[in-house]
Amino acid sequence: MSFPALAFVDLETTGATATADRITEIGIVEVDESGVREWSCLVNPGTPISGFIERLTGISNAMVADAPPFEDVADEVRKRLEGRLFIAHNARFDYGFLKNEFKRTGRDFRATVLCTVKLSRKLFPQHAKHNLDSLIERHGLTVSSRHRALGDARLIHQFWQRVQAGVAPEVLAQTVKALTARPSLPANLDPAAIDDLPDGTGVYLFYGENNLPLYVGKSKELKKRVLAHFAADHAAAKEMSLAQQVRRIECIATGGEIGALLKEAALIKQLQPSHNRVLRRNEDLCFWELTEVRAGEWRPQLLMAGDIELRREEHLYGPFKTAKEARRTLTELAKEHHLCHSLLGLEKVKAGKPCFAHQLQQCKGACVDKEPMSFHSARLMAALGRHRLAPWPFAGPAWIREGDDVHLIDHWRHLGTAQSEADLHGLLETPAPAFERDSYRILQKALARMTPLARKT
Ligand SMILES: [Zn+2]
Repeated sequence: MSFPALAFVDLETTGATATADRITEIGIVEVDESGVREWSCLVNPGTPISGFIERLTGISNAMVADAPPFEDVADEVRKRLEGRLFIAHNARFDYGFLKNEFKRTGRDFRATVLCTVKLSRKLFPQHAKHNLDSLIERHGLTVSSRHRALGDARLIHQFWQRVQAGVAPEVLAQTVKALTARPSLPANLDPAAIDDLPDGTGVYLFYGENNLPLYVGKSKELKKRVLAHFAADHAAAKEMSLAQQVRRIECIATGGEIGALLKEAALIKQLQPSHNRVLRRNEDLCFWELTEVRAGEWRPQLLMAGDIELRREEHLYGPFKTAKEARRTLTELAKEHHLCHSLLGLEKVKAGKPCFAHQLQQCKGACVDKEPMSFHSARLMAALGRHRLAPWPFAGPAWIREGDDVHLIDHWRHLGTAQSEADLHGLLETPAPAFERDSYRILQKALARMTPLARKT
């Protein structure tokens, strides 16, 4: 079995964060047809090394004081890695650090990466631990200098040799292929756009030509979800056409899933992306409101969602997407429950005259005093019961915390999301948005997580 030219890489750094911490040592074992070459180099990180890191790696501030900065070894490193499969243990770490160091020097660095943690996990799933110490013990690797760059790079190389000796070639080839598979990306999309996507929860937006919004979606794993859109084996023509049009991707990380759902719903309404299902405009949203016109006589009245005042939700039934849908529902209920079509306003009849439904014996006769009005009202309420707007269970606003986000909600309206107490007070002072169907559904499911806001008295 032939593998391309390989580079086993390990780095020592001043800490764990690729964007803030710096490289102190680089170790590379190059393997190809002409043999094995080892190279390592100390790097001046331009920042102090902590006592903890000094003790862990044995690389002290004094040792790197005269070492070259990364910029001076960047070309050498690139020359050694170029065209090779980049193999590292927990490769995301080493690859991320190198990419960031190259970025600081104004250069771009990209490689096909194979992570030996993932490789070990795939090949030896019976083992729980796949850190380097576990591999040393399990495969009897020879340690030269642990926690130094070249020493650890050698260990990864040894692990690779053990794997090559012990695993069926076609299994290994298949596994490596699966682990290094590059996502197929739309032709017009910069691959760097994918590298920068966050992994966590949030909302993603696809933009097409002329920055036109194409699609808004949400996910608990943003990067994975976005890549799934571009998977080559997509049979759906719709998905293919979307992928071909994407020019730019934007991601908005949220503290959790509720925030993502709310953001997604708001953005779809705001941007009307061409590939999202067309949402009916909120302006058409309406309710049946039951009002007591005389003692014991309740009648339904159509109310547009925009006209509902905050804190007036007691006798509301809905929401319905349109007035037509509201009427159709009420008509169906009237037939099913033998309610009076005239009293419900579904049929125009002179007062005291039986409604047409009564003549067909479908109305129990509240229109001609055959049924007490209060009975009819009670049956109407029961018939509509399933459509009743959930009563808001708190005296005032409530909040939900998700990560760093605090969502503020009042009477099923999402007032906004705050990251600080000052933001929260600002939200309380701005006027509440109109009742909105998607937020209502999202928030109703999240009711158990709400805490009423303690009001200052
Ligand atoms: Zn009637």
